[in-house]
Amino acid sequence: MSKIAFFSIAAYGHTNPTIEVVRELTERGHQVTYYSFDPFRERIEAAGAEFVSCEGFISMLDKKDEKKVGKDLSLLVRMVTEISLAMDRVYFQQIKASNFDGIVADSMAYWGKFFAKRLNLPFICSTTTFAFNKYSARIMKQDLGSLLRSLFGWPSILRDIKALQQAGFPIKNVLDIIQNDNETNTIVYTSELFQPYAETFSERYAFVGPSIAPTPANPADPERKTVYISMGTVNNKLAAFYHNCIKAFGDGKYRVILSIGERLNLADFNPLPEYISVHQRVNQIATLQSADAFLTHCGMNSVNESLYFGVPLVTYPQTGEQGGVARRVNELEAGLPLTDDAPEKIRMTVDALLADPKYRQNAMKIGRSFREAGGAARAADRILQVIGTR
Ligand code: UDP
Repeated sequence: MSKIAFFSIAAYGHTNPTIEVVRELTERGHQVTYYSFDPFRERIEAAGAEFVSCEGFISMLDKKDEKKVGKDLSLLVRMVTEISLAMDRVYFQQIKASNFDGIVADSMAYWGKFFAKRLNLPFICSTTTFAFNKYSARIMKQDLGSLLRSLFGWPSILRDIKALQQAGFPIKNVLDIIQNDNETNTIVYTSELFQPYAETFSERYAFVGPSIAPTPANPADPERKTVYISMGTVNNKLAAFYHNCIKAFGDGKYRVILSIGERLNLADFNPLPEYISVHQRVNQIATLQSADAFLTHCGMNSVNESLYFGVPLVTYPQTGEQGGVARRVNELEAGLPLTDDAPEKIRMTVDALLADPKYRQNAMKIGRSFREAGGAARAADRILQVIGTR
């Protein structure tokens, strides 16, 4: 039996794929302690791990900043710095005394890597986005706005890096936070087929595919094709866009399921025709299994989940990283880009996607590569191999 510590950031997209890996490990009799945030407690405990709360370790994620996370490098570094310093103060002694056999940390939960280094423990990086190096960076082109924000944020980035160095963190520059290297054992929740420039990553990278909890499908609509729409859980306060979607599908040709997130009121979308439903959150895995098209912001998890079930995509990215995922989807012809959110444009793009079977076929091909990639079982094998237990 091994004792393994997991660390992640306060984001569904970074936590969800790890849950099945945790379940796999605990079912094999290993002990997992997961340092995470309160919204994830229930799921982490249900997967058999001990949950340790890092809630309150992050002060800057107030309302005005929520939208910017993922778009702004200085905000990301701020988050990493705040949590790292707080984790160090509160939990370092406890982690040391726990005698873990290894540490698994999200690629943005830099504090996990730091504890592993300081305690000389085997370390595995968990990457819920595409693996990132100078080659794959080409597809992750940043938009001008986020580059400008990064430039203005530079003094704050330098201040934060200095604060980390002063606290004893082994960090040289911002690349230590955002870049994967070929020496670190890394789990990536996609397949080699979908990862851009997969051949440039070393054998320390395990492309295990998305880890998706077995979930019964929602019933299909016998009369209409189903269009599922979601902009994810972070940058999702897009009321005008959702209203445009409702207009786009007002004629009843499709069944439309809209997930608008928890920051908007459902009542603001009434009245609705019977073939359109609006929810603050749906069971996305159940919903996708009976969907014909997914209009998505291209969060890595949403795209992985959709392709896993062979559902083609209309891509409408909101951040530079999502733009990279969208580009890859469109490059492999598993989706079409939405370039303008006017109702007619939304409708035309969905119609075009559903009119040509090649999009579904390509989505299914990528989906097959995901299923064959080994999933949570292979991720667990790799973790146990790195920490030296079987
Ligand atoms: N999700 C869900 N129900 C919803 C919307 C999203 O279960 O109504 C889940 C989705 O299945 C995915 C995650 O939330 O696993 C969103 O992650 P993603 O990386 O796509 O986007 P983010 O929310 O991080 O922008």
